[in-house]
Amino acid sequence: MSRRLMTASALALGLAAFAPLAHAQDAATVQQAIVVRDAAMRSNIALDYVTQLTTRFGARPAGSKSEQNAAAWAADYLRANGFQNVRIEEFPLVGWERGESSAAIVGDNAQPLVAAALGHSPATPRGGVEAEIVRFASMEELQAAPDAAVRGKIVYIDLGQMHPMQDGSGYGPQTRVRGAGPGVAAAKGAAAFVMRSVGSDENRIPHTGTTRYVDGKPTIPAFALAAPDADQVSRLAALGQPVRMRLTSTARTYETHSQNVIGDLPGATRPDEIIVLGSHMDSWDLGTGAIDDAAGGAITVAAAKAIADSGRRPARTLRVIFYGSEEVAQPTAQTGNGGGVYAKAQGAALDKHVIAGESDFGADRVYALRLPAGAQGSDFQKAATRVLYPIGVLASDRVETEGGVDVGPMGPLGVPFFGLAQDGTRYFDLHHTANDTLDKIDPAQLSQNVAAWAGLLWLIADSDVDFRAMKPASSSTPAH
Ligand SMILES: [Zn+2]
Repeated sequence: MSRRLMTASALALGLAAFAPLAHAQDAATVQQAIVVRDAAMRSNIALDYVTQLTTRFGARPAGSKSEQNAAAWAADYLRANGFQNVRIEEFPLVGWERGESSAAIVGDNAQPLVAAALGHSPATPRGGVEAEIVRFASMEELQAAPDAAVRGKIVYIDLGQMHPMQDGSGYGPQTRVRGAGPGVAAAKGAAAFVMRSVGSDENRIPHTGTTRYVDGKPTIPAFALAAPDADQVSRLAALGQPVRMRLTSTARTYETHSQNVIGDLPGATRPDEIIVLGSHMDSWDLGTGAIDDAAGGAITVAAAKAIADSGRRPARTLRVIFYGSEEVAQPTAQTGNGGGVYAKAQGAALDKHVIAGESDFGADRVYALRLPAGAQGSDFQKAATRVLYPIGVLASDRVETEGGVDVGPMGPLGVPFFGLAQDGTRYFDLHHTANDTLDKIDPAQLSQNVAAWAGLLWLIADSDVDFRAMKPASSSTPAH
């Protein structure tokens, strides 16, 4: 008996809840995943969503009116596309507004610099901060410096240009400087903090991003220089004369709220089993947040919609979540990002979360599938390869352990992750800059993302695969 007939007779007997699920590797399941994949490739939902979101609301800083309005609109968008149980999960947040800022070399070499204040960096005193700079080539160098070498000065860390990598791995060492650098400099008595932008481009455009609080308090005014300006300051420092810099910022924080937007496509026979498709709604203020991360929302909503439109509803529930407030640090754990809020609010319901994935790496093509450790070499991985290989996605031996900032908080609570790794070679040319705008999205690559998500999700949603119970195929499962 075919699975379809079996399901039909089970339904007739009122036994839908007990209908046996197909295996992901069953020929009919793989075939339907391919049908869904190809329909998703032709869908225009992703381009529609990302175009509307970035055009209607522009930048969507965490906790801003713009993010709140965008969330309300996105909830309507989900409802209009057939999602059910659409709701908005609000939570308190400390918002941050950039205000006006400036940076310049003063004295004999006086010249303006292109810089941006880092997120959640405090304002300078009225009139700005003016001091001699002290340059370091790494965090370790700064940490090793005696306080007397830093006190009253502007700390400048120049790690050199970030290396563009397909998997984005050049990013980590640089974000450590952005997050923790101002705190380390402040503890040594620095007046302000400046760093080379975390980016792989040589445009005269700074990259912002959040800096962290220390013990619930903001540290010192902190800025990122555009790459050519960072080069310039480093050359000036190398001349061996004192370099004086002047920085101003009117940034401020304010009490507000952010929110997660959640919508379900309920499963046909096992609606309590949840698959989370995550992305984030907030963006930095400089661009319109097209690649970071309107694209992720576009990809996930379009993939789920392609499945809904396939004429068959999978057994399990697909849950799209546009998380609020992914980008910013907060003073305390009392407020936080949307990912943490969702995981905490779900509580025991997380036991029924089958798996979660996140799209937050732009809109360029997917090249690799990463699965939980137990799925390496499994029949599921083989079935997924049959669906994804024809569109250029290879199964990776790299295990998906973290999920991403938004879905990540569910990991320690037992939820497994999948990852569809995107080509990040040019992502950090644009990331957190004024250049993160709609025109940077390549519609063909966006469609390939939607197809990869939809095909994979069909296999997960209409099968019995249990990623928690899977044991690694061998004891030497690679982990990174
Ligand atoms: Zn992002």
